[in-house]
Amino acid sequence: MKISVLRIGHRLVRDDRVTTHSALVSRAFGAERIYMTGIDESVSKTVAGVAKRWGGEFEVQIIQDWKGLARTWKKEGGKVAHLTMYGINIDDAVQKMRMEDRILVMIGAEKVPREAYDIADYNIAVGNQPHSEIAALAIFLDRMFKGKQLKKELAGRRLRIIPAERGKQVRETR
Ligand code: SAM
Repeated sequence: MKISVLRIGHRLVRDDRVTTHSALVSRAFGAERIYMTGIDESVSKTVAGVAKRWGGEFEVQIIQDWKGLARTWKKEGGKVAHLTMYGINIDDAVQKMRMEDRILVMIGAEKVPREAYDIADYNIAVGNQPHSEIAALAIFLDRMFKGKQLKKELAGRRLRIIPAERGKQVRETR
């Protein structure tokens, strides 16, 4: 099962850190790529720098038309999950979603347009309280991959951490 993330919206300056963190969390928790609207190249550059040091093939794609992307995704046989506090409980849908080949998971930087609810095959809540797209995304990916993504070794990494009870142990791999 392959998962890509689509983040809808970006409030200039105010959202900069959250936007970068959405990309870093997508990568670290096992997604293949993130599509984002309304951002410049700085997020892609930060994430490319992380991938160069720590490995993996993750990509950031800047897009203009999120509805077009989601419709094409569905036409090509993928499914769309939208994270929203108004959706159904993640635990009631996760088994079914794990059977899909490709999932595009949509998160909002702010209130998302109505169409997001209609385009989605699954409207999924991570609890029914308002919180954050980063927290919702992290839990979604963790539930979908059953935590296995946290131990995955990424190809092409230049640095490798040796887990330690204290201090930092990092090795160069090439
Ligand atoms: N009141 C807003 C709304 O209409 O969803 C909350 C916006 S919240 C700051 C930004 C994003 O966080 C939402 O678009 C959604 O993707 C995600 N989010 C927040 N709480 C969530 C929850 N309980 N379950 C799933 N996703 C959530």
